[in-house]
Amino acid sequence: MASLKDKLIGHLQTSQDKSSHNKITIVGVGAVGMACAVSVLMKDLADELALVDVMEDKLKGEMMDLQHGSLFLRTPKIVSGKDYSVSAGSKLVVITAGARQQEGESRLNLVQRNVNIFKHIIPDIVKHSPNCIILVVSNPVDILTYVAWKLSGLPMHRVIGSGCNLDSARFRYLMGERLGIHSSSCHAWVIGEHGDSSVPVWSGMNVAGVSLKDIHPDIGTDQDKENWKKVHKDVVDSAYEVIKLKGYTSWAIGMSVADLGETIMKNLCKVHPISTMVKDFHGIKNDVFLSLPCVLDNHGISNVVKMVLKPEEEKQLQKSATTLWDIQKDLKF
Ligand code: NAD
Repeated sequence: MASLKDKLIGHLQTSQDKSSHNKITIVGVGAVGMACAVSVLMKDLADELALVDVMEDKLKGEMMDLQHGSLFLRTPKIVSGKDYSVSAGSKLVVITAGARQQEGESRLNLVQRNVNIFKHIIPDIVKHSPNCIILVVSNPVDILTYVAWKLSGLPMHRVIGSGCNLDSARFRYLMGERLGIHSSSCHAWVIGEHGDSSVPVWSGMNVAGVSLKDIHPDIGTDQDKENWKKVHKDVVDSAYEVIKLKGYTSWAIGMSVADLGETIMKNLCKVHPISTMVKDFHGIKNDVFLSLPCVLDNHGISNVVKMVLKPEEEKQLQKSATTLWDIQKDLKF
């Protein structure tokens, strides 16, 4: 007897291609992974979203909770699983899995714990999505992007760290608060290591093309009576502050990941401060990943913008590179 479905629907095709064309996977469904998931869904970036984690109940619960919002979304398929086969055929894989910072703990302290987790995750991702772009969010993000690159065997332009995309957003928000202007019109770049040794490029800060350094030469220096240096200090302190107050950070990183996801999935060729291999840029000699302004598209990072930096800014970048390399060279993976 014909089923209700057969009575309702007349079939036009005998075989339908049900495969997804714009699939995104998020590995790790903790606070950050779920903020990324919701932000990606709200921006309609994928026709399939896959979630992967080791905690099966939490994973299934998060998947069901999102599926129940399907009426309000434009992503028709939301799946999850502990097995990476669920991620097969992804264009973009976002990695948020791993231990998070404890109150007062530095990002660099987390490193070996998260390297061990990556040893399990990365080969499985590549096995099921050999053509994907990997976007690393887990901390310490610059070192783990290097680790993901090494473990994956993928070309370097397809292994990216979210890097200073969030630090720059925080900086531009705080700049906007001081000026009474929306962040999108406050232009500024924070580059280098995501976190403690990030470098604000004071010479590039501008609103409508007006250089703040030109009209206020002391900006960013200890002589500055308006203490703009504090804006950068507040950026560096902001994760520690939020973690102290609510236990973790999630919403802003989720939105910044979706911003990168949009550039990738829609092939926008936008420039973002994200973590890439910086050997031979700005006098850096080691295989380290740090944030520089990168042109991002459907294939990953296509180009790096050569910033005109002051000697002291280059020196700061080189110092971060040395710090990261000193940790990286002893990693076991
Ligand atoms: P969380 O503890 O809430 O979630 C981590 C998740 O990873 C958990 O659900 C856990 O089960 C999962 N996980 C652990 N091992 C796994 C494995 N082998 N395979 C799959 N999943 C695994 O932590 P969180 O607050 O979501 O933070 C996640 C990471 O993101 C941390 O490293 C944190 O420091 C980092 N983070 C980065 C930025 C940034 O700007 N790059 C910002 C905020 C947080």
